Amino acid sequence: MLQIENKDKFGKVVAGALAKIELTVTDAGMKKRWINAIAKATAEIEENGVFMTYQEDDHSLIIWSQKSNKIYTANGHCQCRAFEQGSPCFHRAAARLVRLYLEPEMSAIADTKAEEIPYLKNNSYIKAERVGSVRIN
Ligand SMILES: [Zn+2]
Repeated sequence: MLQIENKDKFGKVVAGALAKIELTVTDAGMKKRWINAIAKATAEIEENGVFMTYQEDDHSLIIWSQKSNKIYTANGHCQCRAFEQGSPCFHRAAARLVRLYLEPEMSAIADTKAEEIPYLKNNSYIKAERVGSVRIN
């Protein structure tokens, strides 16, 4: 069973995931499908977390779907129809959100204010020179 205890932190994870789609997915249709998948994943995690289990060893999220009565194990892959057809599915989106939510480095980000996180700033141009300890220009 999965329970989101820190809604504020989870909100930041979701905002970060949406921002990443906005920045990295260029195809408009695909962008819309991923945003829908993230929105559905967010609602499912909040409402049906009782039917989900996160496995730390392989970062997968096990989801018991009430609708299909099937069990999906999602990380980068999934067993659902949408994944078979090459479409984003909420299972994979949920797995990623939960992973980010539970990962220690995300906790560090959640402790900072949103305005201190470059990708959550609106209309600001950040010239990144370092990513972590790695110099990139
Ligand atoms: Zn799926």
